[in-house]
Amino acid sequence: MSYGDASQVVSELHGKLQREILTDEADRWSYSFDASFGTFLPDAVIQPVSRDEVVKIVQTAVKYRVPIYPRGTGSSLSGGPLPVYGGIVVDTSWMRDKLEVYPDDLVAVVSPGIHTAEIHRAAEAYGLFYPPDPSSSEVSTIGGNVAENSGGPRGLKYGVTRDYVLGLEIVTPEGGVLRTGGRTVKNVTGYDLTRLIVGSEGTLGIVTEVILRLVPRPQDRRTALIVFDDLVSSGRAISKVLTSGILPCAIELMDQACLIAVESYRPSNLPTDAQAALLIEVDGHPEAVRDEIKKVEAICLELGAKEVRVARNETERQQLWFARKQISPAIARIKPTKISEDATVPRSQIPEMFRRLNQIREKYDLQLVVFGHAGDGNLHPNIMCDIRDDEEMERVEEAVSEIFRAAIELGGTLSGEHGIGTMKAPFLPMEIGEIGLDMTRRIKAAFDPLNIMNPGKIIPNNERNRVVLR
Ligand SMILES: Cc1cc2nc3c(=O)[nH]c(=O)nc-3n(C[C@H](O)[C@H](O)[C@H](O)COP(=O)(O)OP(=O)(O)OC[C@H]3O[C@@H](n4cnc5c(N)ncnc54)[C@H](O)[C@@H]3O)c2cc1C
Repeated sequence: MSYGDASQVVSELHGKLQREILTDEADRWSYSFDASFGTFLPDAVIQPVSRDEVVKIVQTAVKYRVPIYPRGTGSSLSGGPLPVYGGIVVDTSWMRDKLEVYPDDLVAVVSPGIHTAEIHRAAEAYGLFYPPDPSSSEVSTIGGNVAENSGGPRGLKYGVTRDYVLGLEIVTPEGGVLRTGGRTVKNVTGYDLTRLIVGSEGTLGIVTEVILRLVPRPQDRRTALIVFDDLVSSGRAISKVLTSGILPCAIELMDQACLIAVESYRPSNLPTDAQAALLIEVDGHPEAVRDEIKKVEAICLELGAKEVRVARNETERQQLWFARKQISPAIARIKPTKISEDATVPRSQIPEMFRRLNQIREKYDLQLVVFGHAGDGNLHPNIMCDIRDDEEMERVEEAVSEIFRAAIELGGTLSGEHGIGTMKAPFLPMEIGEIGLDMTRRIKAAFDPLNIMNPGKIIPNNERNRVVLR
């Protein structure tokens, strides 16, 4: 693929934008990675502060046929914002001027650089609620969440980012401004371009404004930590709770390796001798919540739980969630390289997926740690390894392929929330088939005929995406 020279775009835009264009090597290195593990150095980084600046950048990139890569705060776990063909990173985390809540319409209108947790707090000030809650919500941007269709623990009851995006403003890969959807809950005018763009990983345009649906804030919530002697029983308990007429807002799983890692990182009184623990939260009317948490407790004890700890107050509840949120940093200390997957299966297949993950761990003799939003089947098998160890990385590659195959065989998907990015692109045909791949390519070409908007993502291309990275 041949692209133009990024320095022409830099010269033409020089002095025409509010923030300086970054071309120093040190600055460029800090944009060469995300929270996955690929490293690609951009030629320049631009930090627009308005839609009009984004339009100028894209139109200039089109003129010189230079690839551009939208980026939020770089917390992607799939290589989404990496500049795999060189070119220019467009950092939209500086676009933060708008965070408006319209309580009468139950909507918020938000600039792409606003962090998810800022939206949570703004909605709560009006007694409202923005449910999507990626564990990275204090740092990740709504632009990144929209592009990845991010989920989180509350996805079980409330769905994911897509379910709350009513409308978008994007700058198209040809430099036009496209508005989709609007402020109404119902809208069936024409093709649903909003839904197409959400989850398109920055390949169909740069999001410059988002209209979000808000809901009333739940009146109460109760949370319990439930301890099991084996992983498969915890999987059965999840299935039983979900078929008992209760819909918790979150069911999070931590396996023994996670419990031990968190305890040695930020001691939180977790049971390190247990094989698995579930964090189950119910929310809603106070009386219903009290009743439901009792039922959850009874079901889990019946299915072999050895301990149930119900948080007695908000402080204890926060402590349980704090422990859950320490898993990623805690396991990152086990070994230098963390391969974080998010294969997702139908809920009925959760126990079988646990069984397959156990087999894969033993077969490839790897440190495979499992946690995640188990209630919606969205598991995070993480392989802790060392990229400098070639022999180990070969086993990792095989294990990753086998995890994907298992998820697909069980009727699941390659990614529940982290996106395809560069990492999973080679596996895309396994899930969507040749016709799906052809249609995906044609949609991309219709939006982006020059293939300059975040190239090298989602669509397999042997040149640039590798299964795992050696
Ligand atoms: C510790 C940790 C926990 C996490 N927990 C979760 C979780 O619970 N659930 C979950 O879903 N994810 C989770 N993630 C993954 C990550 O935080 C999300 O994918 C998040 O949405 C990325 O946002 P970002 O601002 O960092 O975007 P980036 O990582 O910068 O970019 C992500 C993608 O969005 C595109 N993009 C960014 N901004 C724009 C824009 N304005 N217009 C168009 N495209 C854009 C990029 O091109 C890229 O493809 C976690 C990550 C970490 C490190």
